[in-house]
Amino acid sequence: TRIGIDAGGTLTKIAYWDEKKEMSFQSFPSSDFKAVKEWLETNHSLASICLTGGRAAQLKEYLTSINEIPYIVEFDATMNGVMHQLKEEVINSEAAIIANIGTGTSIHIMQGETHSRIGGTGIGGGTLLGLGSALTGIQNYKDIIEQSKMGNRSSVDILVSDIYQNNKLPLKGSLTASNFGGVALKTHDTRNSTDMLAGVQGIIGEVVATLCIQAADAHQVEDIIYIGSTLEGNELLQKIIESYTILKEKKPIFLEKHGYSGAIGALLEN
Ligand code: ATP
Ligand code: MG
Repeated sequence: TRIGIDAGGTLTKIAYWDEKKEMSFQSFPSSDFKAVKEWLETNHSLASICLTGGRAAQLKEYLTSINEIPYIVEFDATMNGVMHQLKEEVINSEAAIIANIGTGTSIHIMQGETHSRIGGTGIGGGTLLGLGSALTGIQNYKDIIEQSKMGNRSSVDILVSDIYQNNKLPLKGSLTASNFGGVALKTHDTRNSTDMLAGVQGIIGEVVATLCIQAADAHQVEDIIYIGSTLEGNELLQKIIESYTILKEKKPIFLEKHGYSGAIGALLEN
């Protein structure tokens, strides 16, 4: 069997072919290489592995029993994984901006067979966990996601329509004028942890989408593909990104295996 491993800053993702020759997936915290090693030794000791991701060298070091593991550059692996998923899901895209919302966010452009990195931001999945926990004390990813869904951003953020009251609007009133500005200015409102977490999702989604929309305008492409484990089970973030991208007349695309593009690319390289 063959296995592709993407050892990222937060999560180590694995893609492999199972007994039925179907692509299967597994992930571990990157803080727990021991679990990765045990998983490999238990079921896949004879597999041929291909590694990618920022922590690939660290993982390779840890897996000393396995000699000479091939490595593929993260961006190449990710793009190959994205192309594979587009084909599988029958999505046609000649050219697209790709945002990988991992621990941080990396932004790329793909045109036909070529791709290059065009930017990024430190606002990403690590921000969701870090800022979310700093504001509420909640540390578990699933809890943060679930709680944020129950939140309301209206007391946390300031909308354009909050500022332009009884005044002719120069831009859409439903746009965010100031993320978290409401905490300082809406002093009579009450807000709880779920509202704060919804606000954090808002920052991440709007910052990432804004950068991608500007990149799409600059390079005259319409499609924006959003990937990364930060989207995993996170419908609220997907919705924030989707609606803003559509509002700006671009086409948002989400893939089924949000966080696994790098691992899939490494598997296929193998
Ligand atoms: P990078 O690519 O920046 O090195 P990474 O590859 O580890 O990091 P991803 O796996 O794509 O990044 O995404 C990590 C983010 O996914 C986390 O910051 C968190 O927001 C979210 N996430 C999803 N599932 C989990 C989970 N089970 N545990 C922790 N974080 C999770
Ligand atoms: Mg990654």
